[in-house]
Amino acid sequence: MVETLMRKTRIAVLGTGGTIAGEASSASDVLSYQDSQLSAADTLAPLAPYLPREVELLALQISQLGSENFSTDTWLLLAHAISRLDQTEEPDGFVLTQGTDTLEETAYFLHLALKTAKPVVVVGAMRPATAISADGPLNLLRAVQLAASPQVRGFGVMVVANERIFSAREVTKSHTSSIDSFCSPEFGCVGYMQNGDVKLHRMPSRHHTINSPFSVSGLQSLPKVDIVYAYAGAGSESIRAFLDGGTRGLVHAGTGNGSISSVHQMAYREAILRGVAVVRSSRTGSGLVSRNGAVDDDAFGSISSDTLSPQKARVLLSLALTLKQDAPELQRYFDNY
Ligand code: GLU
Repeated sequence: MVETLMRKTRIAVLGTGGTIAGEASSASDVLSYQDSQLSAADTLAPLAPYLPREVELLALQISQLGSENFSTDTWLLLAHAISRLDQTEEPDGFVLTQGTDTLEETAYFLHLALKTAKPVVVVGAMRPATAISADGPLNLLRAVQLAASPQVRGFGVMVVANERIFSAREVTKSHTSSIDSFCSPEFGCVGYMQNGDVKLHRMPSRHHTINSPFSVSGLQSLPKVDIVYAYAGAGSESIRAFLDGGTRGLVHAGTGNGSISSVHQMAYREAILRGVAVVRSSRTGSGLVSRNGAVDDDAFGSISSDTLSPQKARVLLSLALTLKQDAPELQRYFDNY
């Protein structure tokens, strides 16, 4: 007798809190609500009638935390949880629900560090679940549909928001409260969700996941990396405080093309002499920080961030410092990831 065994497409949904799990006392309140109230299973419940029959969901609560309270330990916890689930439950894809504030940092960390070709989709919402026109349920439905799609196998970690699909390296939150907050300046989205169908326009171009050298296997903590914000008249107090706090890397959120004031240069020189990595990025929000442009990186010993924002450069530097310490080798990571 020949038996056909049909295995359902299994998607693991990990909940961490955020606005997507938020509740307000009035449906018209979209601003002063409590985030991180509903469980992952609660947020999935309204989707049941719209999910294809061949999709089954596993729900797992990792935390109930606004993402402004995430730390590098939270990233590691999530990476370890996904890796473990990958082996024990063998899902076909993953969805991670979280607050939108630092969503892009978690997504880029997982994009660099996870060792899987399966789709991983990070998703949030700008309005609480109780709101009229809440965006969470549709975003979450699209995230599950995207994670179940074989079309995006090998794409690494993606973010889906307001019917657009973004690559984790490029996406950023760009608005305090609009449902159209997520975008990729300069690069645009990689595709769209059209009534649940995945419509791709391009692939992520930089290496990630199984093609990156980074791994969290056996890693219990990440090197401390801090961000220094540049502004007219800024002193070097923050740099000195970070050095006293034991920082291993400093990301300069520089003006323009990653320029560094003479006051900051003096403090960074000391940092570099102490073996602290210094990465030049830009606070402008888009564009490429050119190596040996606004600063002679070869002579100064600094690294340019390519197109990474300060917060994304910090993610890459944290992982890069687990493998290398020298500026030229760290620069190669920024050129390739
Ligand atoms: N600040 C909260 C967080 O990041 C809510 C923001 C949101 O989820 O949109 O979790």
